Amino acid sequence: MYDVIIIGGGPAGQTAAIYSARKKLKTLLLTKQIGGQMVWSSDVENYTGFSVISGADLTLKFQEHLKTITEDLEIKEGFEVVDLEQNITSFVVTVKTGEQFFAKVVIIASGKEPRHLGIPGEERFYGKGVAVCATCDAPFYKNKDVAVVGGGNSAMDALFALSKVARKIYSVNISEHLRGDNVLKAKVESSPNISFYNLAKTIGVVGEKGVTGLRIQKSSGEEETLMVSGVFVEIGYVPSNSFDHITEKNEKGEIKVDGNLQTNVPGLFAAGDINDAWGEQIIIAAGEGAKAAIAAANYLNQLK
Ligand SMILES: Cc1cc2nc3c(=O)[nH]c(=O)nc-3n(C[C@H](O)[C@H](O)[C@H](O)COP(=O)(O)OP(=O)(O)OC[C@H]3O[C@@H](n4cnc5c(N)ncnc54)[C@H](O)[C@@H]3O)c2cc1C
Repeated sequence: MYDVIIIGGGPAGQTAAIYSARKKLKTLLLTKQIGGQMVWSSDVENYTGFSVISGADLTLKFQEHLKTITEDLEIKEGFEVVDLEQNITSFVVTVKTGEQFFAKVVIIASGKEPRHLGIPGEERFYGKGVAVCATCDAPFYKNKDVAVVGGGNSAMDALFALSKVARKIYSVNISEHLRGDNVLKAKVESSPNISFYNLAKTIGVVGEKGVTGLRIQKSSGEEETLMVSGVFVEIGYVPSNSFDHITEKNEKGEIKVDGNLQTNVPGLFAAGDINDAWGEQIIIAAGEGAKAAIAAANYLNQLK
């Protein structure tokens, strides 16, 4: 039986782990991967203490810090939580292998994951030409033709990053215009190697061993296959909480929390991008991880 189980190893989960272990609570951190969305950021310019640092380097700094915590903390990376329940004495956390872990308190810090298009071929080619992180994968598409699906800031970020390495980029956007930061929009719209398909729907990803094309339907109704070897899906993020059926959510699927980051279930907290508190930033997620761990410690003290 652990005092605290933390689900998720992004900035919120890692910070919660540091605070929880330093309060001498027997803590288990279960995560699919360490770092979370932070590793996808090329340059972070708004984390106090670093005027500029890459997301990958900031993740290493977090990990170095975690390694200094040698007592009361167990970290299990590569563990995907698939179920969360409550019995009379504890919370029961089940991972994909079927193994179960028990704790008096749980902090959900499972953040957000990229939204999928849900079109034929997309799942099959994930990692084989379909990508969700231009910062990470753009270098693989040097002098190749690619498509970016989406019309907001993340799509524009991807278009801009790819315009520097790829040969030709197709911007495929279901809306009439790209929407977001005007400076970024101006840079993207003046890039000579980007072609714009607005009011266009994606209908399928095609290929054999890897992607060879993206099927779209243009505003005229005509269908076309864009001959590309990469499709970057940049249509936003959704809460990563399919394992949780016991908390109340808002209309976006985010977990509702009170001022102590406690959910509607006593002893169950949610920190970072997964909850319905506003502000989706590394420093806010880290701050909420700290706050949730302190609130969890107070809750456990009250139980005694
Ligand atoms: C491209 C990009 C650039 C960004 N740039 C910046 C920036 O410059 N500055 C800034 O402040 N913010 C930036 N952000 C936002 C910032 O990264 C997020 O707000 C922050 O990472 C949220 O932290 P989190 O810990 O709540 O969740 P996440 O970072 O999403 O971490 C969630 C963790 O939970 C794990 N997990 C998920 N589901 C499960 C499960 N079922 N079982 C076990 N583990 C699970 C994941 O593996 C991951 O480790 C950026 C985001 C993106 C996508």
